[in-house]
Amino acid sequence: MSIIEQNLQRVHRQIRTAAQDCGRDPRQITLLAVSKTKPVTAIEAAIDAGQRAFGENYVQEGVEKIGWFRERPEGAGLIWHFIGPLQSNKSRSVAENFDWCHTLDRPQLARRLNDQRPVERAPLNVLIQINISGEATKAGIAPEAMLALAALVTECPRLRLRGLMAIPAPESDFQRMSALYEALQRVHPGVDTLSLGMTDDMPAAIAAGSTLVRIGTAIFGARE
Ligand SMILES: *Cc1c(COP(=O)(O)O)cnc(C)c1O
Repeated sequence: MSIIEQNLQRVHRQIRTAAQDCGRDPRQITLLAVSKTKPVTAIEAAIDAGQRAFGENYVQEGVEKIGWFRERPEGAGLIWHFIGPLQSNKSRSVAENFDWCHTLDRPQLARRLNDQRPVERAPLNVLIQINISGEATKAGIAPEAMLALAALVTECPRLRLRGLMAIPAPESDFQRMSALYEALQRVHPGVDTLSLGMTDDMPAAIAAGSTLVRIGTAIFGARE
């Protein structure tokens, strides 16, 4: 068994334990393998271990990996999530290649992704990124701006609003994200995804209702 397969099994066990500790069904939590900076051989090892959903932060690197796996049988059925900051001039590559974008944080970006999503593909799944810790340097919109941006997304036929994403500061209150997520669900009942939790904060994120944990280091090892 490869190291990556062992790591994936351990992370799945940790997800089960964290879910049980707060009375949740572990099947409500999807594991996103964050493969940024890692080679395709590492992704192949994760695929061999049954992993299908991968997260990438850098547009060019992600598009190259998606292209690589598109040509290969083991690439069938993979789901690619864009999870990095997105400059407007790179939105087309995300709209054309990825299945999800986690970092929608402004109206203009929603309009661009909608215009650029190819008609032959399913609508792009989008998450609104929230700056939950209120840090000036962090990406994401203020919680007060969430509903207006969500309303815009639902008017975009080539986008599908799936939920929220956040990268909370270590000491911040994860429960605020679950309250916001519930507020969004009251207005948009189809919303089903709260993208919260990384290697160092996964149990707290699961306790706050995360349905999608983004895990890099615990699966693929430390990055350069
Ligand atoms: C890199 C990254 C992750 C994964 O972080 P780890 O600590 O390696 O698990 C998750 N989410 C985002 C947005 C990232 O940039």
